[in-house]
Amino acid sequence: MDEMSELVGLFREAAPFVVLTGAGVSTESGIPDFRSPGTGLYNFIDPMEYLSVWGMQKNAPRFWKHFKEMRGPILDANPNAGHLALARLEEGGWVSHVITQNIDGLHYKAGSRNVLEIHGHLRTARCMACEERMDLTEALDQLPERDVPQCPECGADLRPDVVLFGDVPEEYPRAMELVEASPLLMVVGSSLSVSPANMLLHGAGKLVIINRDPTASDRLADIVIQGSAGEILQDLTERL
Ligand code: NAD
Repeated sequence: MDEMSELVGLFREAAPFVVLTGAGVSTESGIPDFRSPGTGLYNFIDPMEYLSVWGMQKNAPRFWKHFKEMRGPILDANPNAGHLALARLEEGGWVSHVITQNIDGLHYKAGSRNVLEIHGHLRTARCMACEERMDLTEALDQLPERDVPQCPECGADLRPDVVLFGDVPEEYPRAMELVEASPLLMVVGSSLSVSPANMLLHGAGKLVIINRDPTASDRLADIVIQGSAGEILQDLTERL
């Protein structure tokens, strides 16, 4: 039996199950991931300077300038065949939840409803003093008049509602609960090198990994399929 037929068999036994996605599910929408050789963002920026709590505290104006530049193309992106297939799998009762490491909102745009964004999103910013939230677009509209957007309530600096390196991902315990309650975890488009997201694998029953490149966790998986997330997920939905 080939891997795809084996996977379809596993789906029939385990549905509804949980999916964990990473940046690789969105590269076919034109959003670069972190670690792909040649195209990943790590080829161009130092994440500790631009995407960490430390980098934000060290130079908040630079952090916000970069954040604004990065956000524009992400907001313009559309869901690809992979996001659409996952939404169809949820609608068909195969997938219960999508846990995503992505901040791009493309699972919602594709029609998925049970989405847990463990690394946050681009919809809001929050005040670092009083925790008041505001629309991220309105916060960014304060630039470049100000170097750093300010809270309309108390005037303190705002920060985006994304989980930066150095933050505690508050949704992680809920994600672990979902994984532990599911008979199968299917990972799509993640190098599985970011913690604690990769620790979710320890709560998994059966494990499937769909990724273009090998991951350090492949040896833990029951089925590994290498290739394009969009093509593989679309093929899967057509076989069900
Ligand atoms: P990563 O960059 O570490 O790994 C991405 C993996 O996806 C790679 O192993 C690569 O082989 C694979 N991949 C790339 N294109 C693919 C495709 N078309 N089909 C199948 N696989 C493909 O990303 P990560 O593991 O998600 O960790 C990086 C962190 O950065 C996460 O927190 C992530 O959310 C964040 N990030 C998010 C976005 C986004 O919101 N779209 C973009 C970049 C980084």
